[in-house]
Amino acid sequence: MKIVKLTATARADVEAARKRLVKERAMFVDLVEVGVQGSPSDSHLADSDVHPADKFLADTELWTKSSTEPTLVQFRYEFELLFGNRAEGTLILYQDCFYDVRGQFTSAQQRLLVLEAADKERQLFERLKAKFESPSGQGGTRARHRIPEAVRIEVWRRDQGRCATPGCGSRENLEYDHIIPIDAGGSNTARNVELLCEVCNRRKSNKIQ
Ligand SMILES: [Zn+2]
Repeated sequence: MKIVKLTATARADVEAARKRLVKERAMFVDLVEVGVQGSPSDSHLADSDVHPADKFLADTELWTKSSTEPTLVQFRYEFELLFGNRAEGTLILYQDCFYDVRGQFTSAQQRLLVLEAADKERQLFERLKAKFESPSGQGGTRARHRIPEAVRIEVWRRDQGRCATPGCGSRENLEYDHIIPIDAGGSNTARNVELLCEVCNRRKSNKIQ
């Protein structure tokens, strides 16, 4: 295995781990006070330390850059504290997922491996969605509206795997939407296609009708 996806919702996971550790720390302090445990210095989380989650959350450059490019994560030790598991290889953040890239690769190769893993996953779920969730009997229009693979890849990267509606940014149930519908003369090019979540897409088509 060259590449392992460690989390699916990195930012929310870091925030959840922060809450959990703060709670555990408070419990530990209580135990020290009633004399069950040793001294507070036994804890790997001294009060004076910057919380490991905060090191992550404060790194705006990491979150911004990784929304469009696989980005090396420097906080390996903090990652281990938060999630209790260690990246064996290089720890990389891309579009809100942590990846563990194992093996001897240059950073340029690691970047490509992460892009490929993310794109494989996008393809897989698009295929599964079409297989299990598409209403039947739309064969004719579907073929005509089918967005070419190269355009899908471009739109997914441009829109950062998120709903393009300002203020939404959901990663759930994403769909490719023609900004100008094909029937109204719109094209199947990246400029005319955006990612929308199902909710925003329904809202938009209700407005048009
Ligand atoms: Zn949305």
